[in-house]
Amino acid sequence: MAKSYEKILVAVDITDELDEVVSAASEVARQHDAELHFITVIQPMSYAYSGYESVGSYAAFPEFEQQAQASARAVLKEKAADLGLGEERTAVLLGRPATVIREHAADLGADLIVMGSHGRHGLGLLLGSTATGVLHGAPCDVLTIRIKE
Ligand code: AMP
Repeated sequence: MAKSYEKILVAVDITDELDEVVSAASEVARQHDAELHFITVIQPMSYAYSGYESVGSYAAFPEFEQQAQASARAVLKEKAADLGLGEERTAVLLGRPATVIREHAADLGADLIVMGSHGRHGLGLLLGSTATGVLHGAPCDVLTIRIKE
């Protein structure tokens, strides 16, 4: 018997590829008659600028992060509404994307994570991707949607 999924978590960053990933995930959810949930993870600015304390603008980070979270919340709310789903199906969290996506999938009891993946080579391959990070230690199956470059 084919495997069936009941709760699907779609991980999206707010980029052009969002619609491609959401449309694939919603099709899988439809086929499986599964509940669909959304997550976007905002990376703390201190991750990108650690060691630059002397710049003296650390105080502005929380405000930037709150603005990024608010705009991501608005985008996810709209995407969920397009599919007839409420805001309670969306989560915008702060942290390292791969770790937070895995943890949220476990908290929700999701049985499938859907996300995009790029065909990387060179330095990008060495650094790894969010999809690779989620796969290592994922609490459930992971479906990656190959993003056309
Ligand atoms: P990347 O690692 O940038 O190649 O992203 C691949 C895929 O990982 C994206 O298409 C999303 O599905 C997911 N992803 C990347 N960054 C985030 C993020 N900050 N929050 C949620 N999902 C993400």
